[in-house]
Amino acid sequence: MRGNSRSSKNKNNLKDIHKADIPDPYFEKRLRLMNRLKDELNLSERVYKAMLKVPRHLFVPFNYRDDAYADTPLPIGKDQTISAPHMVAIMCELLDLKEGHKVLEVGTGRGYHAAVVAELIGKKGKVITVERIEELARKAREVLESLGYTNVRVVVGDGSKGFEEEAPYDRIFVTASAPDVPKPLIDQLKLGGKIVLPIGNFMQNLVIVEKDEGGEIKKKPWGAVRFVPLVGEYGF
Ligand code: SAH
Repeated sequence: MRGNSRSSKNKNNLKDIHKADIPDPYFEKRLRLMNRLKDELNLSERVYKAMLKVPRHLFVPFNYRDDAYADTPLPIGKDQTISAPHMVAIMCELLDLKEGHKVLEVGTGRGYHAAVVAELIGKKGKVITVERIEELARKAREVLESLGYTNVRVVVGDGSKGFEEEAPYDRIFVTASAPDVPKPLIDQLKLGGKIVLPIGNFMQNLVIVEKDEGGEIKKKPWGAVRFVPLVGEYGF
């Protein structure tokens, strides 16, 4: 967790309680989950460590905190769900994130996945994450800021069109299922870049899209998944 330097001032402010110098009561649970995922998924040390750092319980509604370290999706309000930890881990592995990468996420939700990616790309990198539901974006922004993630920008809007203003991106990932790869995402991807996204309606497949140095596009299916639908101009 980051942001400890600001912690001593506001010990009585409940909103800031997770910044205070108190031990993380969920660390043991998170460690157990991550050790299991590491074995089951053969996780890289980098993804394992990033997910071990991010307090998922702060990214779920208060009444679901005790469930935050079960490997399952959880409701986050507005009919949306936060992805299961194994899905976040798998997408991070497939994205092959490097220090300094500029990454676009479509579908912020409460911001958990963005925080994990922010850990993986470090202070020199940047995550731009787009969410269409303003209230979710606001909550995500609040938690990310309170934890000191200065390398994440939360934007409200239709992410199916990407986010031209900050393009091009080294990596793009979508956490809602699209009818096909949205063309703006391909256009906003750097040469040599990668997109990971679920495609399909009832039957969904996670797909890896690679743009080679010549601008040629290759798609590889990874396997069956279950996400909420991507809506918007290039969505359903
Ligand atoms: N990334 C989240 C999961 C979010 S669920 C995590 O960390 O677990 C998918 C999110 O995509 C929902 O919040 C939904 O509102 C959002 N979404 C759907 N269509 C969208 C669009 N066109 N632009 C931006 N966000 C969209």
